[in-house]
Amino acid sequence: MSGAKGKGTFRCSRCHLSCRFDYFGQRPPFQTALILLEDAYVMKDPFSPDERQLVLGSHCSVCQQPVCVGTGCSVFYTKRFCLPCVLAKADEFPEEIRKEVESKNTEDIQRFE
Ligand SMILES: [Zn+2]
Ligand SMILES: [Zn+2]
Repeated sequence: MSGAKGKGTFRCSRCHLSCRFDYFGQRPPFQTALILLEDAYVMKDPFSPDERQLVLGSHCSVCQQPVCVGTGCSVFYTKRFCLPCVLAKADEFPEEIRKEVESKNTEDIQRFE
């Protein structure tokens, strides 16, 4: 992934969520205290007066496909993994992660308070 910073449209390769993003990277400029654990697509929350941000997604560290953070598309376990990559290497993940993937019940979008 070459650091494509700046605005554009994020598209999840799994659920086809498509959403405008304001920043790609690890240190969104909107909230200086926040450092993400991965390069991620971030948008300013249009419904939040203090410009909180929403993390939309990132790239799977194995197949490099863009995947959103929720709706059963990816998990974060030291790095971002899309579900097919987790399932392909299920023995390398702890049980919690496998259960999470199997249940596919993750929240739609992570919120940073
Ligand atoms: Zn998705
Ligand atoms: Zn993958």
